[in-house]
Amino acid sequence: MSRFYITAAIDYANGDPHLGHAFEKIGADVIARSRRLMGDEVRFCMGMDEHGQKVAQAAAAEGVDPQALVDRLSGRFRAMWERLGISNERWVRTTDAHHRRGVGALVERCLQRNPGDFYEKAYEGYYCVGCELFKRDHEIVDGRCILHPTRELQWTEERNWFFRLSAYGEFLRRHLDLHPGFLQPESRRNEILALIDGGLEDISVTRARLSWAIPFPRPTSDGVEQGTWVWFDALPNYLTDTGYPEGDWEAWWPAQLHVVGKDITRLHAVIWPAMLQCAGLPLPERVWGHGFVTLGGERFSKSAGVGLDLGEVIDRFGPDPFRYFLMREVPWDADGNFSWERFAERYTSELANGLGNLASRTISMVEKYCGGLVPDAAHPEIEARIAEALAEYRRSMDALLLHEGAAAPLGPGSAAEAGVPAVGPGKLATEPEGSADLHASLAARVRELAVASALLSPLLPAKLEELWSRLGSARPLPCFHELEGLAVGGWQVGTGEVLFPRPELVAG
Ligand SMILES: [Zn+2]
Repeated sequence: MSRFYITAAIDYANGDPHLGHAFEKIGADVIARSRRLMGDEVRFCMGMDEHGQKVAQAAAAEGVDPQALVDRLSGRFRAMWERLGISNERWVRTTDAHHRRGVGALVERCLQRNPGDFYEKAYEGYYCVGCELFKRDHEIVDGRCILHPTRELQWTEERNWFFRLSAYGEFLRRHLDLHPGFLQPESRRNEILALIDGGLEDISVTRARLSWAIPFPRPTSDGVEQGTWVWFDALPNYLTDTGYPEGDWEAWWPAQLHVVGKDITRLHAVIWPAMLQCAGLPLPERVWGHGFVTLGGERFSKSAGVGLDLGEVIDRFGPDPFRYFLMREVPWDADGNFSWERFAERYTSELANGLGNLASRTISMVEKYCGGLVPDAAHPEIEARIAEALAEYRRSMDALLLHEGAAAPLGPGSAAEAGVPAVGPGKLATEPEGSADLHASLAARVRELAVASALLSPLLPAKLEELWSRLGSARPLPCFHELEGLAVGGWQVGTGEVLFPRPELVAG
């Protein structure tokens, strides 16, 4: 069994969870669940980024203590991820005492190993609190940050500690060359290679007058203690969750995969590896910068008033159809769009009429014609297709092309893809010479449904757990390697409520 440590980005505690957050967490969860299906021992960490000016400002605007704000938001995010069926068993908060100690230890380790990488400098520039970054001219349009057009940029003049990021360009270039899989998809890799080749600038890693922060271990020469820049505090969450610097943190570090949005790929593919290299610690194996999901063609934005009420979607359809739709509709390696029209289309054709109908008709036919026992019949004609689907699924999931993996089990040639079972029950069931065909056909369909239940369970965990139990195996959902030879003869099927009610029948 191999270990697989996966992280999703931690979210800023300054607002409620939205579609963009949900897209990333669902994608990371599908990966985590598919690794468990493959037999890996998985550690899946998510959490909250609770320090920084943006959080302090949000708390001030509400007139509450920052700790009270982050406590409340941590609870709300956690509750939302639970409702969506996200299976992270780890939850990190950057205000936790352990994380604060871990960041202090990591920065101290950097300062001791490479003291020349840190220096003081007076700095001035436009600071975007939305990004928690100083912005360069090309990142500013009409006096505003491109990513945060509703926020005022802050002209900031301070004396700060700087990190000599410029010294790491050559190291990072070599690392990316030697490990082509380190940063994916290819489009993100090309962006970052261009950035590195253009020359990296040193970065300010402390903020004066920032009390809602982890204190930087060295005061500036004027004797003032500064706050650690929020990204220097946030990025190490992936490391501190393993227990660093105490205990057996090396059992889980380095992480196998960081899942992040394309807007923060640079932080994860440049600054974080440079920090780790400075500290003499191993780099994560892989960083995946997913795209954005837009709503009706617009990027989701709280400030622009473009939103989708996650709670409402889950109330109406349950978490699984929403998870399935996002993963099928939005390519995990590109951008995509959420629309209710497309949701209704996919829900109807793929879940209600496809998988759901195939399942209910197959199960009711097994009950009606076989006394509820799945016939022990050979079905050689579908084995080649199943082997192909398994290989395609494996290839897609290893490449993190989740949208392709999701399409594999019920793809071309499957009974579900054909819409309805191909066998007419009346004729075959009533003619004795037809019953052998009918039995083989029903066994084949149960076999196919069993494989689909396992392969699609990362997307539709609750629904397919339910389907699996109706198919009547006495065992829990199998691992991937058990699927090829899975025998379904003798299973005792059971019926239940419609798995995917027609959308017009779902209370709106
Ligand atoms: Zn910004």
